[in-house]
Amino acid sequence: MIDIRYEASLLPYNTFGIQATAFILAEADDVAELAGYLRSLSKPDKAIVLGAGSNVLFVSQRFDLVVRLKMDSIEIINETDDHVILRVGAGKTWDDFVNWCVERNYSGIENLSNIPGTVGAAPIQNIGAYGAEVKDTIELVETLEIATGKIVMFSNQQSAFAYRDSFFKRNKKQYIITAVHFKLSKTFEPNVKYADLQLELAQDVHIDIKKMRRAIIKIRNHKLPNPAEIGNAGSFFKNPIIDNDKAQEIKKILPMAPFYPVSPKYSKISAAWLINQCGWNGAQEGNVGIHKWQPLVIVNYGNATGTEILNFAEKIIASVKNEFDIELEKEVNIY
Ligand code: FAD
Ligand code: NAP
Repeated sequence: MIDIRYEASLLPYNTFGIQATAFILAEADDVAELAGYLRSLSKPDKAIVLGAGSNVLFVSQRFDLVVRLKMDSIEIINETDDHVILRVGAGKTWDDFVNWCVERNYSGIENLSNIPGTVGAAPIQNIGAYGAEVKDTIELVETLEIATGKIVMFSNQQSAFAYRDSFFKRNKKQYIITAVHFKLSKTFEPNVKYADLQLELAQDVHIDIKKMRRAIIKIRNHKLPNPAEIGNAGSFFKNPIIDNDKAQEIKKILPMAPFYPVSPKYSKISAAWLINQCGWNGAQEGNVGIHKWQPLVIVNYGNATGTEILNFAEKIIASVKNEFDIELEKEVNIY
């Protein structure tokens, strides 16, 4: 089925709480019908796809065509003693899927508990948290090519996943992800690299997959602003990856600078730390500000427009560039 609405408000469909309108809002629970509908349009390439809108910022106030996906089935398509392969509809709420897996002791995505959004969006920026990335569990991504209405499959390698990035993020408006295949393990190996997790689980002698999920949900509920209470799209910026010479330069002046090695040549530096060093801690300008607990999270304190939020973000980028000669990259998708 495909449900078409005209002049639809997108306010319920973005966690920043920005007012925008879709001339056509098409919600589909069937791939063939969606393909047929797109083929019937003169300009299907105008389509933007929305999941839960938890990683978008609307700067435009009006969109010609917005597509949302409702398919949310979970199918077991293969199973061995060690692994299970699941095919999940793009419209499934990500955290409901994580919960479903944790309940069955299927391991690999438990560290990605409580991330807002849909399964279809998870490959877009290769969602990651607490030392896990979804790319390590993805076997196949099923898509619909917007221009042709054809079904195109992407292997893990073809999806070109990278740190909070993928082929799909770099080639927006070309493919609609309709389903994702995950390979999960029946053996749970706790991944407790991050300090907050070590602290939360310090008293536990035996960590099982359910405890891990509970710990992550608890930490996230304490540290992150709830979009239902205050508009935000999580981290607005990515942590920059810089070469080790540059990292050493910063370390010489600021020995406490938090770096994490990513390869023999490169290190990741905390964007939150860079932003705080530039004096943005808890800053507010009009309706927009930096969240008091999370320097990476820009919040909408009232009726901010997308442009106000974007201008505020650009100021932060300019000040980090000026102070450290490091270019912060936006993680949020701007439309
Ligand atoms: P949307 O915001 O609707 O879309 C994001 C992008 O993907 C857009 O460009 C959109 O066009 C595209 N897209 C969406 N669905 C499809 C599809 N089916 N086919 C093609 N393109 C599509 N992210 C992390 O990586 N780690 C975190 O820990 C994390 N924590 C967060 C915490 C909070 C409080 C918030 C608000 C956000 C957080 N995020 C995090 C960001 C966000 O939750 C993820 O990026 C999530 O995957 C976005 O899903 P969505 O369905 O809301 O996508
Ligand atoms: P945190 O634990 O306070 O750590 C701060 C930053 O340092 C993080 O961005 C993280 O990088 C990095 N880091 C910490 N320990 C690390 C380690 N052992 N190895 C490599 N990098 C390390 O982070 P937080 O803000 O509370 O967030 C916790 C996790 O949730 C992080 O993974 C974060 O990415 C994720 N998260 C993401 C969003 C989003 O919207 N994208 C929002 C909230 C939380 P990484 O970010 O690369 O992990």
